[in-house]
Amino acid sequence: MRIDLHAHSTASDGVDTPAQLVRAAAAAGLDVVAITDHDTVAGWDAAAAEADRAGVVLVRGVEVSCHADGISVHLLSYLNDPADQALLAELTRSRDDRVARARRMTERISADYPVTWDQVQQQVPPGATVGRPHIADAMVAAGVVRSRDEVFGTVLHRESPYYVSHYSPDAVTAVRLVRGAGGVPVMAHPMASRRGRIVSDQVIAGLADAGLAGLEVDHPDHAPHERAHLRGLAAELGLLATGSSDYHGDGRPNVLGCCTTAPEDYRAVVEQGRVGLAGRGVS
Ligand code: AMP
Ligand code: FE
Ligand code: FE
Ligand code: ZN
Repeated sequence: MRIDLHAHSTASDGVDTPAQLVRAAAAAGLDVVAITDHDTVAGWDAAAAEADRAGVVLVRGVEVSCHADGISVHLLSYLNDPADQALLAELTRSRDDRVARARRMTERISADYPVTWDQVQQQVPPGATVGRPHIADAMVAAGVVRSRDEVFGTVLHRESPYYVSHYSPDAVTAVRLVRGAGGVPVMAHPMASRRGRIVSDQVIAGLADAGLAGLEVDHPDHAPHERAHLRGLAAELGLLATGSSDYHGDGRPNVLGCCTTAPEDYRAVVEQGRVGLAGRGVS
Protein backbone atom coordinates (compact mmCIF):
# COMPACT_ATOMS: atom_id res chain seq x y z
CA MET A 1 0.00 0.00 0.00
CA ARG A 2 1.30 3.47 -0.91
CA ILE A 3 -0.10 6.14 1.37
CA ASP A 4 0.56 9.91 1.10
CA LEU A 5 -1.10 11.92 3.88
CA HIS A 6 -0.39 15.57 2.93
CA ALA A 7 -1.25 17.26 -0.38
CA HIS A 8 -2.64 20.61 -1.52
CA SER A 9 -5.15 21.70 -4.16
CA THR A 10 -6.47 24.98 -5.58
CA ALA A 11 -8.59 25.24 -2.42
CA SER A 12 -5.37 26.75 -0.98
CA ASP A 13 -1.94 27.12 -2.58
CA GLY A 14 -1.78 23.94 -4.67
CA VAL A 15 -1.87 24.12 -8.44
CA ASP A 16 -4.13 21.10 -9.18
CA THR A 17 -7.89 21.28 -8.61
CA PRO A 18 -9.13 18.78 -6.00
CA ALA A 19 -10.23 16.42 -8.82
CA GLN A 20 -6.88 16.77 -10.60
CA LEU A 21 -5.06 16.08 -7.33
CA VAL A 22 -6.93 12.81 -6.88
CA ARG A 23 -6.28 11.78 -10.49
CA ALA A 24 -2.59 12.67 -10.10
CA ALA A 25 -2.50 10.49 -6.97
CA ALA A 26 -3.95 7.55 -8.93
CA ALA A 27 -1.47 8.14 -11.77
CA ALA A 28 1.37 8.18 -9.23
CA GLY A 29 0.31 4.71 -8.08
CA LEU A 30 -0.96 5.81 -4.66
CA ASP A 31 -3.63 3.76 -2.89
CA VAL A 32 -4.43 6.51 -0.37
CA VAL A 33 -4.05 10.29 -0.57
CA ALA A 34 -5.03 13.00 1.90
CA ILE A 35 -6.23 16.41 0.78
CA THR A 36 -4.89 18.87 3.36
CA ASP A 37 -5.39 22.43 2.21
CA HIS A 38 -4.40 25.32 4.45
CA ASP A 39 -7.20 26.34 6.85
CA THR A 40 -10.08 25.04 4.71
CA VAL A 41 -12.24 22.01 3.93
CA ALA A 42 -13.46 23.60 0.67
CA GLY A 43 -11.82 20.94 -1.54
CA TRP A 44 -13.25 17.89 0.24
CA ASP A 45 -16.43 17.28 -1.76
CA ALA A 46 -14.89 17.63 -5.22
CA ALA A 47 -11.95 15.43 -4.21
CA ALA A 48 -14.26 12.77 -2.71
CA ALA A 49 -16.42 12.64 -5.84
CA GLU A 50 -13.34 12.04 -8.02
CA ALA A 51 -11.69 9.59 -5.62
CA ASP A 52 -14.39 6.97 -6.27
CA ARG A 53 -13.95 7.33 -10.03
CA ALA A 54 -10.14 7.29 -9.84
CA GLY A 55 -10.00 4.30 -7.48
CA VAL A 56 -8.03 6.10 -4.75
CA VAL A 57 -8.98 6.21 -1.08
CA LEU A 58 -9.31 9.85 0.01
CA VAL A 59 -8.48 10.98 3.53
CA ARG A 60 -10.16 14.29 4.33
CA GLY A 61 -7.82 16.67 6.08
CA VAL A 62 -6.91 20.28 6.81
CA GLU A 63 -3.52 21.87 7.47
CA VAL A 64 -4.35 24.17 10.37
CA SER A 65 -2.14 27.27 10.78
CA CYS A 66 -1.11 27.82 14.38
CA HIS A 67 1.82 29.01 16.48
CA ALA A 68 3.86 28.10 19.55
CA ASP A 69 6.53 30.23 21.25
CA GLY A 70 6.08 32.80 18.46
CA ILE A 71 7.00 30.15 15.88
CA SER A 72 4.69 29.15 13.02
CA VAL A 73 3.39 25.58 13.39
CA HIS A 74 1.29 23.61 10.90
CA LEU A 75 -1.07 21.05 12.37
CA LEU A 76 -2.59 18.42 10.09
CA SER A 77 -6.14 17.50 11.09
CA TYR A 78 -7.51 14.26 9.66
CA LEU A 79 -11.13 13.12 9.50
CA ASN A 80 -12.52 15.96 11.61
CA ASP A 81 -16.22 16.79 11.43
CA PRO A 82 -16.29 19.46 8.69
CA ALA A 83 -19.25 21.15 10.39
CA ASP A 84 -17.67 21.54 13.84
CA GLN A 85 -18.37 25.17 14.71
CA ALA A 86 -15.46 25.78 17.09
CA LEU A 87 -12.88 24.52 14.58
CA LEU A 88 -14.57 26.26 11.64
CA ALA A 89 -14.57 29.58 13.51
CA GLU A 90 -10.80 29.45 13.98
CA LEU A 91 -10.20 28.40 10.36
CA THR A 92 -12.38 31.28 9.16
CA ARG A 93 -10.55 33.75 11.38
CA SER A 94 -7.17 32.60 10.02
CA ARG A 95 -8.39 32.67 6.41
CA ASP A 96 -9.85 36.17 6.78
CA ASP A 97 -6.68 37.58 8.32
CA ARG A 98 -4.58 35.89 5.63
CA VAL A 99 -6.25 38.22 3.09
CA ALA A 100 -5.38 41.38 5.05
CA ARG A 101 -1.88 40.03 5.63
CA ALA A 102 -1.27 39.20 1.95
CA ARG A 103 -2.43 42.70 1.07
CA ARG A 104 -0.03 44.28 3.58
CA MET A 105 2.87 42.13 2.38
CA THR A 106 2.09 43.06 -1.23
CA GLU A 107 2.03 46.76 -0.32
CA ARG A 108 5.45 46.46 1.28
CA ILE A 109 6.85 44.52 -1.66
CA SER A 110 5.36 46.97 -4.19
CA ALA A 111 7.63 49.70 -2.81
CA ASP A 112 10.56 47.84 -4.38
CA TYR A 113 9.10 45.49 -7.01
CA PRO A 114 6.48 45.95 -9.75
CA VAL A 115 3.62 43.90 -8.26
CA THR A 116 0.15 45.09 -7.24
CA TRP A 117 -2.58 43.71 -4.96
CA ASP A 118 -4.81 43.38 -8.06
CA GLN A 119 -2.22 41.14 -9.69
CA VAL A 120 -1.96 39.00 -6.55
CA GLN A 121 -5.72 38.62 -6.33
CA GLN A 122 -5.78 37.40 -9.93
CA GLN A 123 -3.58 34.47 -8.84
CA VAL A 124 -6.02 33.33 -6.13
CA PRO A 125 -8.64 30.82 -7.31
CA PRO A 126 -12.18 31.74 -6.15
CA GLY A 127 -12.66 30.80 -2.50
CA ALA A 128 -9.07 29.63 -2.00
CA THR A 129 -7.10 30.25 1.19
CA VAL A 130 -4.65 33.04 0.31
CA GLY A 131 -0.96 32.49 1.00
CA ARG A 132 2.50 33.73 0.17
CA PRO A 133 2.62 31.35 -2.83
CA HIS A 134 -0.03 33.51 -4.54
CA ILE A 135 2.18 36.59 -4.09
CA ALA A 136 5.00 34.51 -5.57
CA ASP A 137 2.79 33.58 -8.54
CA ALA A 138 2.02 37.25 -9.20
CA MET A 139 5.75 38.05 -9.16
CA VAL A 140 6.43 35.15 -11.55
CA ALA A 141 3.62 36.36 -13.85
CA ALA A 142 5.06 39.90 -13.75
CA GLY A 143 8.44 38.52 -14.79
CA VAL A 144 10.15 39.61 -11.57
CA VAL A 145 11.28 36.07 -10.63
CA ARG A 146 11.28 32.68 -12.30
CA SER A 147 9.73 30.44 -9.64
CA ARG A 148 7.95 30.31 -6.30
CA ASP A 149 11.03 28.74 -4.81
CA GLU A 150 13.30 31.58 -5.90
CA VAL A 151 11.22 34.27 -4.23
CA PHE A 152 10.66 32.21 -1.03
CA GLY A 153 14.39 32.29 -0.45
CA THR A 154 14.41 36.10 -0.42
CA VAL A 155 11.42 38.48 -0.51
CA LEU A 156 8.83 36.05 0.92
CA HIS A 157 11.04 34.44 3.58
CA ARG A 158 9.90 34.72 7.19
CA GLU A 159 12.99 36.76 8.07
CA SER A 160 12.44 39.19 5.16
CA PRO A 161 11.52 42.84 5.93
CA TYR A 162 8.44 42.39 3.72
CA TYR A 163 7.11 39.54 5.88
CA VAL A 164 3.87 40.04 7.81
CA SER A 165 2.35 37.37 10.06
CA HIS A 166 -1.35 36.53 10.22
CA TYR A 167 -3.75 35.48 12.96
CA SER A 168 -3.59 31.85 14.01
CA PRO A 169 -4.58 29.96 17.16
CA ASP A 170 -1.86 28.68 19.46
CA ALA A 171 -0.89 25.07 18.80
CA VAL A 172 -2.23 23.61 22.08
CA THR A 173 -5.62 25.21 21.39
CA ALA A 174 -5.51 23.87 17.82
CA VAL A 175 -4.78 20.30 19.00
CA ARG A 176 -7.74 20.47 21.38
CA LEU A 177 -10.01 21.96 18.69
CA VAL A 178 -9.12 19.18 16.25
CA ARG A 179 -9.77 16.47 18.88
CA GLY A 180 -12.98 18.30 19.87
CA ALA A 181 -14.08 18.04 16.23
CA GLY A 182 -13.39 14.28 16.28
CA GLY A 183 -10.26 14.75 14.18
CA VAL A 184 -6.77 13.30 14.45
CA PRO A 185 -4.04 15.96 14.94
CA VAL A 186 -0.60 15.30 13.44
CA MET A 187 2.15 17.93 13.50
CA ALA A 188 3.28 18.76 9.95
CA HIS A 189 7.00 19.00 9.05
CA PRO A 190 8.17 19.70 12.64
CA MET A 191 11.80 20.23 11.57
CA ALA A 192 11.43 22.14 8.29
CA SER A 193 14.04 24.71 9.33
CA ARG A 194 14.58 26.13 5.83
CA ARG A 195 11.25 27.95 6.28
CA GLY A 196 12.10 29.59 9.61
CA ARG A 197 12.55 28.75 13.29
CA ILE A 198 11.33 25.37 14.51
CA VAL A 199 9.85 24.44 17.89
CA SER A 200 11.73 22.52 20.58
CA ASP A 201 11.11 18.92 21.62
CA GLN A 202 9.60 20.34 24.83
CA VAL A 203 6.92 22.16 22.83
CA ILE A 204 6.16 18.92 20.97
CA ALA A 205 5.92 17.06 24.29
CA GLY A 206 3.42 19.70 25.46
CA LEU A 207 1.34 19.13 22.33
CA ALA A 208 1.47 15.37 22.98
CA ASP A 209 0.05 16.04 26.47
CA ALA A 210 -2.73 18.10 24.86
CA GLY A 211 -3.74 15.20 22.59
CA LEU A 212 -1.43 15.23 19.59
CA ALA A 213 -1.67 11.92 17.71
CA GLY A 214 1.45 11.93 15.57
CA LEU A 215 4.43 13.57 13.94
CA GLU A 216 5.07 13.90 10.22
CA VAL A 217 8.50 12.28 10.23
CA ASP A 218 9.19 11.62 6.56
CA HIS A 219 8.85 14.92 4.67
CA PRO A 220 10.92 16.34 1.79
CA ASP A 221 12.13 19.23 4.00
CA HIS A 222 13.60 16.84 6.61
CA ALA A 223 17.20 15.62 6.38
CA PRO A 224 17.93 11.98 7.29
CA HIS A 225 19.22 12.87 10.79
CA GLU A 226 16.10 14.97 11.45
CA ARG A 227 13.86 12.06 10.45
CA ALA A 228 15.81 9.78 12.77
CA HIS A 229 15.43 12.27 15.62
CA LEU A 230 11.68 12.67 15.02
CA ARG A 231 11.16 8.90 14.78
CA GLY A 232 12.82 8.52 18.18
CA LEU A 233 10.81 11.39 19.66
CA ALA A 234 7.54 9.91 18.34
CA ALA A 235 8.39 6.55 19.91
CA GLU A 236 9.33 8.22 23.20
CA LEU A 237 6.08 10.22 23.33
CA GLY A 238 3.85 7.38 22.10
CA LEU A 239 2.97 9.20 18.88
CA LEU A 240 2.32 7.85 15.38
CA ALA A 241 4.90 8.56 12.68
CA THR A 242 3.59 9.60 9.26
CA GLY A 243 5.22 10.36 5.93
CA SER A 244 3.98 12.54 3.09
CA SER A 245 4.96 14.61 0.09
CA ASP A 246 3.31 17.99 0.87
CA TYR A 247 2.53 18.04 -2.85
CA HIS A 248 1.52 21.43 -4.33
CA GLY A 249 1.33 20.44 -8.02
CA ASP A 250 3.87 22.29 -10.14
CA GLY A 251 4.13 24.92 -7.40
CA ARG A 252 6.91 22.97 -5.66
CA PRO A 253 9.26 20.15 -6.62
CA ASN A 254 7.63 17.73 -4.14
CA VAL A 255 6.39 14.69 -6.08
CA LEU A 256 3.30 12.74 -4.90
CA GLY A 257 4.39 9.66 -2.98
CA CYS A 258 8.00 10.83 -2.52
CA CYS A 259 7.46 10.20 1.20
CA THR A 260 4.82 7.75 2.42
CA THR A 261 3.12 6.50 5.59
CA ALA A 262 3.35 2.91 6.83
CA PRO A 263 0.02 1.02 6.67
CA GLU A 264 -0.11 0.50 10.48
CA ASP A 265 0.24 4.24 11.19
CA TYR A 266 -2.38 5.01 8.53
CA ARG A 267 -4.77 2.46 10.06
CA ALA A 268 -4.25 4.03 13.48
CA VAL A 269 -5.16 7.48 12.08
CA VAL A 270 -8.34 6.08 10.54
CA GLU A 271 -9.27 4.23 13.74
CA GLN A 272 -8.72 7.31 15.93
CA GLY A 273 -10.84 9.33 13.49
CA ARG A 274 -13.63 6.75 13.58
CA VAL A 275 -13.65 6.70 17.37
CA GLY A 276 -13.44 10.51 17.53
CA LEU A 277 -16.41 11.08 15.26
CA ALA A 278 -18.47 8.33 16.94
CA GLY A 279 -17.72 10.02 20.27
CA ARG A 280 -19.47 13.14 19.08
CA GLY A 281 -22.36 11.34 17.41
CA VAL A 282 -21.12 11.72 13.82
CA SER A 283 -20.67 8.67 11.63
P1 AMP B 1 1.84 31.11 4.17
O1 AMP B 1 0.97 30.01 4.67
O2 AMP B 1 1.06 32.13 3.41
O3 AMP B 1 2.72 31.71 5.23
O4 AMP B 1 2.81 30.47 3.09
C1 AMP B 1 3.50 29.29 3.43
C2 AMP B 1 3.36 28.29 2.30
O5 AMP B 1 4.27 28.61 1.28
C3 AMP B 1 3.74 26.89 2.72
O6 AMP B 1 2.62 26.19 3.17
C4 AMP B 1 4.23 26.28 1.46
O7 AMP B 1 3.17 25.70 0.76
C5 AMP B 1 4.71 27.44 0.64
N1 AMP B 1 6.18 27.44 0.53
C6 AMP B 1 7.07 27.52 1.52
N2 AMP B 1 8.33 27.49 1.03
C7 AMP B 1 8.22 27.38 -0.32
C8 AMP B 1 9.14 27.29 -1.40
N3 AMP B 1 10.46 27.35 -1.19
N4 AMP B 1 8.65 27.17 -2.65
C9 AMP B 1 7.33 27.13 -2.87
N5 AMP B 1 6.40 27.23 -1.89
C10 AMP B 1 6.84 27.34 -0.63
FE1 FE C 1 1.31 25.36 1.19
FE1 FE D 1 2.87 23.19 5.95
ZN1 ZN E 1 1.37 21.59 3.40
